[in-house]
Amino acid sequence: MLLNSDTQLNRNSYYEASVERPPPQAALQEHLSVDVVVVGAGFAGLSSAIELARAGYSVVVLEADRVCSGASGRNGGQAIVGYASGQEVFEHQLGKAAARQAWEMSLQALDLIDERVQDFGIDCDWVKGYLHVADSPRKARALQQEAEAMHQTYGFATEVATGAEVRRFIDSPRYSACAFETLSGHLHPLKYGLGLARAAQSLGVKIFERSAVVQLDRGASLVAHTAQGRVTARFGVLAGNYALPDVGPQVAPELSSRIMPVGTYIIGTAPLGEALCRQLIPSNAAVCDNNFILDYFRFSADHRMLFGGRVSYSTRTPPNLKATMAKRLGQIFPQLKDVPIDYVWGGFVDISMNRAPDFGRLGHNLYYLQGFSGHGVALTGLAGRLVAQALAGQAERFDVFAKLKHLPFPGGALLRTPSLVLGMLAYRLKDAL
Ligand SMILES: Cc1cc2nc3c(=O)[nH]c(=O)nc-3n(C[C@H](O)[C@H](O)[C@H](O)COP(=O)(O)OP(=O)(O)OC[C@H]3O[C@@H](n4cnc5c(N)ncnc54)[C@H](O)[C@@H]3O)c2cc1C
Repeated sequence: MLLNSDTQLNRNSYYEASVERPPPQAALQEHLSVDVVVVGAGFAGLSSAIELARAGYSVVVLEADRVCSGASGRNGGQAIVGYASGQEVFEHQLGKAAARQAWEMSLQALDLIDERVQDFGIDCDWVKGYLHVADSPRKARALQQEAEAMHQTYGFATEVATGAEVRRFIDSPRYSACAFETLSGHLHPLKYGLGLARAAQSLGVKIFERSAVVQLDRGASLVAHTAQGRVTARFGVLAGNYALPDVGPQVAPELSSRIMPVGTYIIGTAPLGEALCRQLIPSNAAVCDNNFILDYFRFSADHRMLFGGRVSYSTRTPPNLKATMAKRLGQIFPQLKDVPIDYVWGGFVDISMNRAPDFGRLGHNLYYLQGFSGHGVALTGLAGRLVAQALAGQAERFDVFAKLKHLPFPGGALLRTPSLVLGMLAYRLKDAL
């Protein structure tokens, strides 16, 4: 098995370079019996573990690699209100009341970051502010319309600017409109994730690293097998991004075809100094454009530009990543054209067909959380809370998501890539035109 941390994708991560991980947790080598076994120590698994432990359950987390070695420890760190799908999927499938409930839960997901940072003293460079930008007149109209609709329907206010006014928010010639708000923000995801792991352990959760679940027996109770041990549990939470190559498709094969792993990549520049950062993005907000295949970027606490974008649907790392991404960064900020690039890394986003989160149950005692579709930094926290509530018998909020219909990608887990590549080419063309 190729582990997350062994892949080329994680070898040069700014996040791994800027934290000191604690010594590895031991691998599972015994037979344990607990209330809940959680598979995967990313944000979703750790959040579930924290909430379950707080509700009085005994919890074991089994992690194939290291804590937050998957998407949770590598992402853009942008914690953004709402869903990658937008509100339409909820409105069309579930109606206005449930869509409003989902929207409010996305606001609570952001509050939950504040709560966790405060409750557990997690030092993770959490900064508020988010700027949504548009790079063409057509995209500018779409951004304005969306801002207006969100204000009217959900009372969500943003500060919208167009034309020359945009430069007050971002010093780039590329953008023709932007919408600014201060509920969303950005953080250092690996610091946050390691903080969540410490918090879970302080509540009595046992975390085992390098302990991939290779088989899961289902029934009245569950048995999760690793290479050298096993855990028997009344309940299970699958939080493993299962569609990824080389990690445990045998754990829940029925979930794989509903998720497409899409590679996305980030470069980290050399430190730019506070003055230049202030000039480029005065609010220090996280920034994301409104293209289907998007650019997302922000500054780190030590004033580096962390610039994300560029996707891969084949699970292979694209060639010349550093050069092509640096060029794109220079097009957005000519001031950064020749700045040294110190870091390049990437990871897989778990995209569902409709881009809404895919949560549900397999049988009566096995829950799963997947399909965050590049919008998981905040939503994974909420997902963990919902699982704990569902397990404790208050399933109403969890079921807002469990009722959404999710289609498999055409071709199932094996052939989904070629058909998605075609679909994505069409979207890329749409962005370009
Ligand atoms: C480069 C990149 C940039 C992103 N940027 C953003 C962003 O700016 N904002 C945002 O909201 N979202 C972003 N995302 C998405 C976000 O990171 C994810 O939605 C979120 O981290 C998902 O968390 P998770 O816990 O579900 O999965 P993961 O963090 O991937 O955790 C799953 C864990 O399960 C483990 N596992 C898998 N199978 C097994 C098994 N059989 N046994 C034991 N363990 C197993 C894995 O090793 C892994 O550690 C980005 C993702 C990437 C890759």
